[in-house]
Amino acid sequence: LLVKSVQEEIERREELQRLSTQLAHANSHLKELDVMKTEFVSLASHELLTPVSAIEGYLSMLLDEKMARVDDPKAKDYLDHVYASAKRLARLVADMLNVSRIEEGRLLVEKKDVDLSDLIKQVTAEIKFKSDERKQKIVFDGQSETSSEIPRGARDDKYATYGDPDKIKEIMINILGNSIKYSKDPGTISIRAERIPTPWVAEKWQKIEDEIKVRPLDDQEAIQSAVDPHFRQFIGKDQILIAIKDEGIGIPKEELPRLFKKFHRVGDYTTAESQGSGLGLYITRALVELHHGRIWADSEGAGKGSTFTFSLPDISTKNELLEIESQVHQEKEQLKPLARPVKQAEEI
Ligand code: ADP
Repeated sequence: LLVKSVQEEIERREELQRLSTQLAHANSHLKELDVMKTEFVSLASHELLTPVSAIEGYLSMLLDEKMARVDDPKAKDYLDHVYASAKRLARLVADMLNVSRIEEGRLLVEKKDVDLSDLIKQVTAEIKFKSDERKQKIVFDGQSETSSEIPRGARDDKYATYGDPDKIKEIMINILGNSIKYSKDPGTISIRAERIPTPWVAEKWQKIEDEIKVRPLDDQEAIQSAVDPHFRQFIGKDQILIAIKDEGIGIPKEELPRLFKKFHRVGDYTTAESQGSGLGLYITRALVELHHGRIWADSEGAGKGSTFTFSLPDISTKNELLEIESQVHQEKEQLKPLARPVKQAEEI
């Protein structure tokens, strides 16, 4: 009996070994496929950029009464539709280009001191035409209660960070654009900013990572970062939190961690009402992380509205940030000579 059970144990171990080798092969094959997919997205978006921009440009001239005449109202109506589609296509190509830049580590951020209160006001003014169309009121008055979970910070109403103003605008526009897009009935979108001089964000993020550990691998991958790990070393003590709450269609709880995954969309994406690529939040997360921040979503469930919250380092941590970024730069520079001989050989 003993010999038999030892033999069985050996067989089980051999089987396990065989399966784990198979799994390792499958994994490396998947990684190869992922690299190929990234290369394809990069190539396709570069090739598409020029013709799509030309189509969009010429259509906009054709529809501009000062530049061209389209007399037939039916033809004008058709052209309006073509123009709307061309704009959507251009947006998609721009998103795909951004994804390949993120994955190849080529997305550059140009940082300076940024007054966030001013920036939020600018963005809400820019997007007002869209929110008016969908009967959504955007409120940023420092009073809005977006989530009771977020601690109340210092009440000085001065929110500033060290970051790239254009990229922070893009983050805000992506989140606000979604809040408008995914709200069917008239409602209010509230923006709240808070300066939090505690490690609250680090603790919150730790909780999110702990919760995801028990979920399927696919979900765990959804919160894996696309940016250089160096950028994620730092969650400082002093953070600015910006929360955007809508009263829209809401998000089922189990979907929350998956939202930031590439191409992920909740529900039936064929509904004409909410067209999209599922790339917006993936790009948004990478932009937040390039600023050493974190982003997450909360919702009480379908039909109950959603809140998107992201953090940015407070301006008081600027020197610390500059030091970390120069270290990252130096490390990358040190790695460069390794690549140089190949390049020189190619040149010769
Ligand atoms: P897209 O909007 O192009 O589909 P995103 O990456 O911006 O892609 O969003 C991913 C998905 O997250 C959306 O398809 C939608 O299902 C869900 N989502 C994002 N924002 C909201 C929101 N404010 N309310 C409800 N669902 C949202």
